[in-house]
Amino acid sequence: MSFPSLGLSKSILRAIDEKGYTTPFPIQIKAIPVILSGKDVIAAAQTGTGKTAGFTLPLLQRLAQGQPVKSNHIRALVLAPTRELAAQVGESIATYGKHLPLTFGIVYGGVKINPQMMQLRGGIDILVATPGRLLDLFRQNAVKFGQVETLVLDEADRMLDMGFIEDIKKVMSLLPRKRQNLLFSATYSNDIRTLTKNLFRNPVVIEVNPRNSAAKSIKQWAIEVDKNRKPALLSHLLRNNNWEQVLVFTRTRKGANRLVQQLAGDGISSDAIHGDKSQGARNRALADFKANTIRVLVATGIASRGLDINELAAVINFDLPQVAEDYIHSIGRTGRAGSKGVAISLVSADEVTLLSGIETLLGQTLVREVENGYIPKHSVPLTRFVKAKPKKPKKPKKPQQKTTSNAVSTKAGASHTNKRRYKK
Ligand code: AMP
Repeated sequence: MSFPSLGLSKSILRAIDEKGYTTPFPIQIKAIPVILSGKDVIAAAQTGTGKTAGFTLPLLQRLAQGQPVKSNHIRALVLAPTRELAAQVGESIATYGKHLPLTFGIVYGGVKINPQMMQLRGGIDILVATPGRLLDLFRQNAVKFGQVETLVLDEADRMLDMGFIEDIKKVMSLLPRKRQNLLFSATYSNDIRTLTKNLFRNPVVIEVNPRNSAAKSIKQWAIEVDKNRKPALLSHLLRNNNWEQVLVFTRTRKGANRLVQQLAGDGISSDAIHGDKSQGARNRALADFKANTIRVLVATGIASRGLDINELAAVINFDLPQVAEDYIHSIGRTGRAGSKGVAISLVSADEVTLLSGIETLLGQTLVREVENGYIPKHSVPLTRFVKAKPKKPKKPKKPQQKTTSNAVSTKAGASHTNKRRYKK
């Protein structure tokens, strides 16, 4: 499959070529022709699958054919959960649309609203926005929705997790009824189904990765360690592995700041990215990380969501995330776009319930290791993963379950996984 065979125009193909893409990713093969045909789409695809190009390429093409935009109006609206993600979508639009006469803007909270109002004055073809700020702009008459042809909800599950449901519903109620709706979400949850039920018209549902499964090119394992030894273990791992760039997740903002200081004490350059930091500081940290000026970026889950950092060698969960699905998102930062990556979770005894929740979601137990010199005093209890019953077993026979407990080992890959086997 090639990009030209997807029905994309010359100007867009040129931009793709200049970006260096040769082959479309599965999400692009599935989504681009459908979006070009004007249908509504619900796509379950994680970040890293190429979903941004999957919707921006056909969106740009469709808009290039339409009517010019009027003052304060917009023709396409992309809603994204965080400023970083909005900025990344903006980058993609700029890259893929560089040979098209279309305008775009990005608006998000936490910065002055006036420049954004000015930006909207002449009208903008594509507006990428976080929901709260978009509504602020609407209330101030800075943006008008009468010309909107397409709505994109990017990382919709995360927008719902972040409590944007009412804002999203409000925005949708303000848009013209006749429009194209596109929704991208890492998971296709019941909440997403409810949100789209009455508002999408016969949507085409596209799924690329198996639901809730982590990308296959990621090697993941857990290291058991006492809580108070985690910072030292992290420095040890960073010293003893030649990963170029490492993204580290902490549960709290304070924890992220503390870790940056501890790493500095060990001579390891890092910076933190989280909601307490100003937009300028977040942009700087991300730019330094991308430019390789710092080796480690410490982030809280929400701040890191959707960050597009290429070729990341390793992701380390310093704390296990509270919400199991965040584990999938966090490790999705590595092994991206076909490159291999490692995802390591530092797990202390008090996190066993979180570990168990993650394993249930993954459908497997994580391989466990202990690191010489960091063997925990409080070992993490063994978990028993039990796979949910398949919905439609081929034969009505009761399946036999074989469950082994997970053993602790100092070698990667040496512990058992509790895979359930069905005898035919
Ligand atoms: P996304 O899932 O949209 O965040 O994209 C993940 C990464 O894949 C980004 O760095 C894109 O630049 C890259 N990418 C998207 N489509 C392709 C493609 N067809 N070939 C190579 N890289 C791609």
